[in-house]
Amino acid sequence: MPIATVNPATGETVKTFDALSEDAVRDRLALAASAFATYRTTAFAHRAELLRRAADLLEEDQDAVARTITTEMGKPLAAAGAEVAKCVKTLRWYAQHAERLLADERPAPDDVADAGAANAFVRYRPMGPVLAVMPWNFPLWQVVRFAAPALMAGNVGLLKHASNVPQTALYLEELFRRAGFPAGVFQTLLVGSGAIEGILRDPRVVAATLTGSEPAGRSVASIAGDEIKKTVLELGGSDPYVVLPSADVRRAAQVAVSARTQNAGQSCIAAKRFIVHDAVYDEFTDAFVAGMRALRVGDPMDADTDVGPLSSESGRSDLEELVDDALRHGATALCGGGRPADRTAGWFYEPTVLAHISADMRIHQEEAFGPVASLYRVADLDEAVNLANDTSFGLSSNAWTRDEGEQERLIRDLAAGGVFFNGMTASHPALPFGGVKRSGYGRELAGHGIREFCNATTVWYG
Ligand code: NAP
Repeated sequence: MPIATVNPATGETVKTFDALSEDAVRDRLALAASAFATYRTTAFAHRAELLRRAADLLEEDQDAVARTITTEMGKPLAAAGAEVAKCVKTLRWYAQHAERLLADERPAPDDVADAGAANAFVRYRPMGPVLAVMPWNFPLWQVVRFAAPALMAGNVGLLKHASNVPQTALYLEELFRRAGFPAGVFQTLLVGSGAIEGILRDPRVVAATLTGSEPAGRSVASIAGDEIKKTVLELGGSDPYVVLPSADVRRAAQVAVSARTQNAGQSCIAAKRFIVHDAVYDEFTDAFVAGMRALRVGDPMDADTDVGPLSSESGRSDLEELVDDALRHGATALCGGGRPADRTAGWFYEPTVLAHISADMRIHQEEAFGPVASLYRVADLDEAVNLANDTSFGLSSNAWTRDEGEQERLIRDLAAGGVFFNGMTASHPALPFGGVKRSGYGRELAGHGIREFCNATTVWYG
C-alpha cells in the first residue's frame, strides 16, 4: 500500500510520501532506546507537565488537525473536531491521574508478614520502546489512547500508522516534540506493514499494541509471541444492539442511527447487529429506517453532512460484496443497498438496513465496516442473548431495557468487553476499553490500560 493522502471524497491523491529506509528505521530504534534510558527516570510531575503542554497545543491546532483528518480519511469535519477534543481531554486526564494509577500497591500487613517480609509492595515500572500499529478510522484518537498512558508510565512510543493517514501520523510526532518531550520519546515510522516484522524482532522494541483487523493482529501477535514480547490487540467487532419491550423504543431507534453510522459506520464499536424483540420490532424498525433514510450523505467538509465517504475504494467494495451476498441469499434492503446516485466521485455508500438475515449469509458472521445495519427479530430474551453471542467477535454490546432483572442477566451473559444500557457504546479515558474472543485481548484506557505496558515489580524487604 503506498504511503499517501488520498481524499476519499474525491478519489484524488493529495500527497505521497517515501517510506523510511531500513537504515533510517534502525537509527530511530537506536534513538528510542537511548531516549528511554533517561526518560524512564523522569518524575511523573515532569511528564504530566509535558503532556499538558501537548494537550494545549493540540487544542490550539484543533481546526487544522480536523481538516487533515477529514481530508485523509473522510469523516465529517465536525466529527473530526470532536475527535481532536476527545484527545485533548484524554491527554489531560492521564496527566492528572497517571501517578495515582501507578502508585505502589501495598498488600495487607498480615500478608506481608506471612510472606516473611518486613515490608513488601508492587512498583509499576516502564518497559521500554513500545511499537504501536494503528488504523486510520480514528487516526488521532487511536494513537493518543496509546500514547498518553504509555508516555506517562515512562515508556517511549514508536508509531507505525496506517498508510493512508501519513499527515496525521507526522503531526503527532511533531506535537509531542513541540510539547517538549525529548527526541526519541515519540517517533513516527513512515513504513509499510511489511517492515513491521523487522521492527518487532529488534531487541530494543519490548512490546507492541495493535488496533486493526484480525489478520493484522494475528500477524503481529505471532511475531511478538515468537519473540516472547507482550501485545495488546484491539481488533474488529460486530456489536449487538438489543432492544427489549421495556425500552424507550423511539429513543432506541434514534440512537441506533448514530450508533450504526458514526464515522460512516467504520468504527469497531459501532452497533452492527440490531436484535429486536417481536413486541417492539415494527415500531423500532419504522423509526430506525426513517432515521437512516433522513441522513445526509455528502462532502465531509460540508457542515450539513451526516455521513461522509468510506475511507478507501477497497473498503467500499468489501462492504458491497457483503451486502450483495446477503441480498442474493434472501435478505431485504429496507433502505439503501448501494451507492448514492448523486455521487459519482469518491467512495460513498448509502445508509442501509437489511432485514431477513440468516446464518448462511457472510454478514451474519463478518464485520460490516460501513453504514449497513443487520436487523433481527427475536421472540424473547434467551433468543436475543444467543443471537448476540453468535459471533466470533466480542468487543462491546448495547441493550435497551429498563428491567433490572434483564440487565443483570445481560451483564452476566453477553460475551463482550462492555455492556452499555440505554445508550450507545463510547469510550472514555476513565473506563477500560477492549474485547474478548476475536476482538482481541488486553485493555486500553483507565488504570487497566496504563498498566498493560508496565513491569509490575515485586519489592520485598527482609
Ligand atoms: P488493518 O488493515 O488491519 O490496518 C491497521 C494497521 O495494521 C495499519 O497500520 C496497517 O498498515 C497494519 N497492517 C495491515 N496489515 C498488516 C499485517 N498483515 N501485519 C501487520 N500490520 C498490518 O485495519 P484497517 O482496515 O485499517 O482498520 C479496520 C479494522 O480495525 C476493523 O476490523 C476495525 O474493527 C478494527 N478496529 C478496531 C478497534 C478497536 O479498538 N478494537 C478500533 C478501530 C478499528 P497499512 O495501512 O500500511 O496496511
